[in-house]
Amino acid sequence: MNVNDKVTVNDLALFGGQPVFESPVGTSGLARPSFDRFLVYSQQFFSARRDSNGSPLVRELEARLAAFHQAEHCITFCSGFWALVLAVNCLKLPGRSEVIMPSLTYRRMADLAAWAELKPRFCEVEPSTLAISARTAEGCISEETALIIGVHPIINCCDVEGLNQLSSRTGIPLLIDAVESVFETTSEGRVGSIARVEVFSLHASKLLNGAEGGYVTTSDPEIAQRLFELRNLSLGVASRTSQTFGLDAELNEMHAALALANLDNIDCFVAHNREIYATYQMHLPSVAGIRLVEFDNSLRSSFKNVVVELLDDWPLPRDMTLRLLEAERILARAYYSPALHQKPMRYPHVPANLPVTELLAERFVLMPSGFMVSTIQILAVIRLLQFIRSHASTIIDRIDAMAMNS
Ligand SMILES: *Cc1c(COP(=O)(O)O)cnc(C)c1O
Repeated sequence: MNVNDKVTVNDLALFGGQPVFESPVGTSGLARPSFDRFLVYSQQFFSARRDSNGSPLVRELEARLAAFHQAEHCITFCSGFWALVLAVNCLKLPGRSEVIMPSLTYRRMADLAAWAELKPRFCEVEPSTLAISARTAEGCISEETALIIGVHPIINCCDVEGLNQLSSRTGIPLLIDAVESVFETTSEGRVGSIARVEVFSLHASKLLNGAEGGYVTTSDPEIAQRLFELRNLSLGVASRTSQTFGLDAELNEMHAALALANLDNIDCFVAHNREIYATYQMHLPSVAGIRLVEFDNSLRSSFKNVVVELLDDWPLPRDMTLRLLEAERILARAYYSPALHQKPMRYPHVPANLPVTELLAERFVLMPSGFMVSTIQILAVIRLLQFIRSHASTIIDRIDAMAMNS
């Protein structure tokens, strides 16, 4: 149903009306190259009969990514998750048990600490950036700190310079999860070349889609060599000498083919994202109570994700807003909520009291964006938010009545 045809709250899909969209409008990237380009790359490994171990497209992708990030070394993996676990294992100070990480972040961040046999110690984020900073990390440093993981939030970057300084001052190694900032350039330079070790993902939902996959950039040749050996312990000297467990975590040629084809097109995806973001920027101010989290104009950005804050004068609770949108097949999502320290955890961790994070975890929403979404659809989403706002009190009454009847 066209959003402009909704007249009363009965026309909202949650109350039995027709949804605005026939198929879901979501937050997944799903960037795609032309099929031909994907085939051109695929043809190379197919005819070379090099499907695994030292395969040509994986090597080509690593060289291209190192150049893209202006990094000295790039090592690919089967996922961003395993790239992170192995990088943590390479960097952590021996004999210490804790890793500092933000709590308002990627939902598997604490699990990867468990795989690396470390206890997460969660720190606050800065309300102005939603990111970990040297200030929030420093308060968590103790005799047990083995590593700090700085994570770029999904809009803009965390302060890598500040974290680098904290790391050199304290001797505690720093790892950057740069998954959400593949395309970004900061005042320090290109993301991927500004910390000793930075980790990225090639998952289908990210800017650079390889369907699955991940990689590490590093300026440290020893770490590059160790990571190279760690990802496939069935080969080489490492299999006989290494003290760590083995793991097969290589990227395969098919995923490398997709990632290479998408890398050729990356500027095009960014141009699309910029248009989506500009549509929000232009039209969201017409919806009182919702603030767009803005990209920093001084950085090069991918504009991939769109995040809004529901302000105190937005008339509905966030979860109610998300339910209304979901019924219309608008798959907006709560931003990193609940935070990691608020979830039940089966493995060792340091209990945390993080009032700032808890407040922030209630307020933000990830809005539809990405390659599959059009500006026309975004205009419809914004019209619907206006409709919801202007009928808020009737909507609340209806939902209360539904709850009482069930
Ligand atoms: C997606 C994501 C990861 C994990 O990457 P996968 O390739 O999906 O394992 C890690 N960190 C952040 C911030 C992410 O968004």
